[in-house]
Amino acid sequence: MSNKHYPHIILGAGVTGLSLAHHLNKKGLSFKVIEKAKRHGGVVHTKSEKGFVYESGPNSGIVSHPEVVALFDELGDAIKVEKGNDLVKVRYVLKNGEWHALPSSMKLAVTTPLFTFKDKLRVLGEPFRKKGNNPDESLADLVKRRLGNSFLDYAIDPFILGIYAGDPAMLIPRHALPKLYNLEQNYGSFIKGAIKKRKEPKTELEQRTDRAVFSFEGGLSQLTDALLKSAGKDNFTFGAEELSVSYNDGLYTVSYTLDGEKQVVTCDKLITTFGSTGFKEALPFISEEEMTHLTNLKYARVVEVALGFNKWNGRALDGFGGLIPHKEKRDLLGVLFMSSLFKERAPEGGALLSVFMGGIRNEALCDLDDEQLMKVLESELKDIMKMDAFNPSMVDIMRYSHAIPQYAINSGDRFDAIERVQKKYNGLFIAGNLRDGIGMADRIKQATLLADKLVE
Ligand SMILES: Cc1cc2nc3c(=O)[nH]c(=O)nc-3n(C[C@H](O)[C@H](O)[C@H](O)COP(=O)(O)OP(=O)(O)OC[C@H]3O[C@@H](n4cnc5c(N)ncnc54)[C@H](O)[C@@H]3O)c2cc1C
Repeated sequence: MSNKHYPHIILGAGVTGLSLAHHLNKKGLSFKVIEKAKRHGGVVHTKSEKGFVYESGPNSGIVSHPEVVALFDELGDAIKVEKGNDLVKVRYVLKNGEWHALPSSMKLAVTTPLFTFKDKLRVLGEPFRKKGNNPDESLADLVKRRLGNSFLDYAIDPFILGIYAGDPAMLIPRHALPKLYNLEQNYGSFIKGAIKKRKEPKTELEQRTDRAVFSFEGGLSQLTDALLKSAGKDNFTFGAEELSVSYNDGLYTVSYTLDGEKQVVTCDKLITTFGSTGFKEALPFISEEEMTHLTNLKYARVVEVALGFNKWNGRALDGFGGLIPHKEKRDLLGVLFMSSLFKERAPEGGALLSVFMGGIRNEALCDLDDEQLMKVLESELKDIMKMDAFNPSMVDIMRYSHAIPQYAINSGDRFDAIERVQKKYNGLFIAGNLRDGIGMADRIKQATLLADKLVE
């Protein structure tokens, strides 16, 4: 049994915990990361099989915050950032069984069949429309008000399926899409705001925050491997089971079992980086009432299927992939054309697809067994990808019971509870995807800002 004391203990070694550990190490702060699983990376996990290199969990990230650019700079030669090629700009949306590219120019915006003529005209009036004043308006209502129904159904809805596997009627923009919400609130209009923001002076890091789609040569695990190395592997403990923390007068005692042996360590500052489902077991000292606010967070269930084809026989994979609006009533959320975007993901002449099913509005699909899922996949993909035959050479079905947190109407309650709990328990910091965004870039930003706070 060990009885060591650390200034900081980080619980969880996903992107959040790893990024935080990297920054603390760089700042010369002493810490220990304790991870439940036997591996680092959390939901980020690049796998390879039969000549295909595929992801379980996220497939790519977006350079959406300067903190991401800074982290990549810091990791230097340890990572080989691979930005998606030009095809990332081509994003298809399914309408009436046919793929249509989301318009990327004025001409295409006028001719696209995705939106109605009435809504296309309506968009011209968007800069002059009154600003909303309900902070809890749903994303669906915001988009209907400013842009019209067809933009909600064939632009925002598939976009939200792609990011949140969610429902625009449930998500609250100021929590779920704060950048979009602030365009309206700060500039009075999405269009005016986007134009004005482009003209605002930017730091060098902000200029390099180009919203590019990123992965790494050989996959996303290259990032988590590099972070582990730079944070110092010896600062990590993996495979910590039955972990539970107690609090007494500014001191945290973390107990867990490692290879059947009980371990006890203490710290002054405890940082959690896991999602809301881990709280009850790990932090039993938090009152039931506060725990209810902290854990009242719905996660979308998702099934992700990596499909490798030695010889591709379907439609051209000439884009980022395709998203399928809820209105189309299909059994898939979307398909990513991974081998078209990044190098060496499939053998020559072959293809790698990443297919998503389930989500907030179609969770029942996640209950299907593998055989049933494959039948659904076969019938859907043959139809929408125009495949002559469905004969994948590699299949990996990955299920996530708590994939993506939905920042819904109760988010404010949760954020308030986090502040109260952190105030009550000196030295407790609640990070992770309960707040501050759901993508990898958001996790990196949160960890960077938290590291600065911990130094203070
Ligand atoms: C299917 C799927 C697709 C996604 N697609 C994208 C995408 O395309 N682009 C994008 O940017 N993001 C995407 N995301 C989101 C992105 O993957 C996450 O934002 C990010 O990886 C989360 O990192 P994290 O460290 O916060 O959490 P996690 O990766 O969940 O890590 C938390 C860690 O904490 C550990 N843990 C749990 N409980 C305890 C405990 N009690 N004690 C110690 N350790 C504990 C877990 O084992 C885990 O390793 C996707 C997520 C999923 C699930």
